Amino acid sequence: MNYGEIKKNDIANGEGVRTSLFVSGCRHHCKNCFNQNTWDFGFGELFTEETVTEILESCKPDWISGLSILGGEPFEPENQKVLLPFLIMFKERYPDKDIWCYSGFTFEEITGKETSRAHTDISEELLSLIDVLVDGRFVEELKNISLVFRGSSNQRIIDVKKSLENKAISLYLE
Ligand code: SF4
Repeated sequence: MNYGEIKKNDIANGEGVRTSLFVSGCRHHCKNCFNQNTWDFGFGELFTEETVTEILESCKPDWISGLSILGGEPFEPENQKVLLPFLIMFKERYPDKDIWCYSGFTFEEITGKETSRAHTDISEELLSLIDVLVDGRFVEELKNISLVFRGSSNQRIIDVKKSLENKAISLYLE
């Protein structure tokens, strides 16, 4: 997996002050995507052990709330394989910090309720490590700049743990 950017002390992509990782590769190709460079799976740098160390170190201070994963598309099958062991490691090291993830796939697509390439043999395990999922493709016609932490009104900010427990979508923020 490649990544385009690591943003430290980010306050735009989740609650609190966070480290944000922008992974490369996305096949959704939403109209007027904010980050078209990252469609290419070869964009940016290779995600290595050094990258993992850099991210984990950046999350060490108490005032860092957690990690955000964006793209590109974290739930493209290739990216899931690299993110799964990384997020397991993150949660082992920082059980009290949260993980936000932005995906163009919906919760239903990731869990296999709706047919999608995002539903793999590891997608549900990966999802279970995430606390908050901002889901759905960016839809230009539904763009609304007053929305917090999302670009278009079809996207939902989902409390993943509650949604998995209740087997029904539970929103983290309206
Ligand atoms: S899912 Fe995100 S990165 Fe992919 S095309 Fe849509 S807006 Fe761009």
